[in-house]
Amino acid sequence: METGVEQGDRLVEPKTQLLLSVVVPVFNEDDVLSEFYSRLSSVLSDIEMRHEVVFVNDGSVDNTLSIIESLRCADANIAVVDLTRNFGKEIALTAGLDHARGDAVINIDADLQDPPELIPQLVKKWQEGYDVVYATRTERRGESGLRKLSASIFYRLIHWSASVQIPQDTGDYRLLSRRATNALLRLREQHRFMKGLFSWIGYPQTGIPYQREPRGAGCSKWNYWQLWNFALEGLTSFTTVPLKVASYVGAITATLAFLYGIKIIGTTLIYGDPVAGYPTLMVTVLFIGGVQLLSIGVLGEYMARIFDESKKRPLYLVKTYQPAENIK
Ligand code: UDP
Ligand code: MG
Repeated sequence: METGVEQGDRLVEPKTQLLLSVVVPVFNEDDVLSEFYSRLSSVLSDIEMRHEVVFVNDGSVDNTLSIIESLRCADANIAVVDLTRNFGKEIALTAGLDHARGDAVINIDADLQDPPELIPQLVKKWQEGYDVVYATRTERRGESGLRKLSASIFYRLIHWSASVQIPQDTGDYRLLSRRATNALLRLREQHRFMKGLFSWIGYPQTGIPYQREPRGAGCSKWNYWQLWNFALEGLTSFTTVPLKVASYVGAITATLAFLYGIKIIGTTLIYGDPVAGYPTLMVTVLFIGGVQLLSIGVLGEYMARIFDESKKRPLYLVKTYQPAENIK
């Protein structure tokens, strides 16, 4: 075997020796999977690298697994990680990264929203020396106005409040170098806000603009309630600003209440003590009560996450793992 030339952290070997892993989390995608695979494999066959495609079956209840297994019979570059149940996309993705063996690893969705045709460009940027190459959506087609608006508010909010800079309008479609993958895999938190984690690791990063297509078939598994929870996940995993807001609101309210108290004592001393002020009493009690409940709620959100993390459970369990036969 030819030996490579050491260049910084990267081992530059003859092109054909390098391995590209493509990680695909799949959950009930039987109606797009074949088309996805044919587009992906035609792109991969044009790339001058060895490749493996790691499908992670995230507890699908349709024919997804049997489709993947028949693809694997025909193509020795396919690996299958079958999880014991549905763990959610972030964790399925992590399972795939754990099993990927490539010098560069690409995460891609199976629903054809991430065009596989972009892969050569991602690889090219990696060869130029970037560790993380993400795809930036220039336009969100096939998504409603409200969804676009909520996504844009969320990105701006997290951009403003989080201590890491998360690039706007990026999904999980990206390429990671081996060292970036290893870095990411050291972060074993249960609450995995992937966009944040990708940014947290640092390393030279760059983006490639593309147009996000509507889903090939089927429907997104995200409804508004899940999107809200996703946003909450992002904020609580990456910023403690809500806790600070709670304390500032508390401090300001207490100061105002104190000043108001002095005013009441003053007027009572000067003008006597007429029984009045039911409206002010109600307003003050309700307002302060509301602020208190809200702050307890914010505390609770953080505490629930501490509780989950403190259990130190494994992120996922694997039922079967079949590696790609071509890759030794
Ligand atoms: N997915 C998964 N587990 C889940 C939900 C989704 O592995 O619990 C996969 C899904 O099959 C697809 C990708 O994650 O390949 C993105 O899912 P989806 O299109 O529903 O999310 P969106 O594109 O709306 O972010
Ligand atoms: Mg999708």
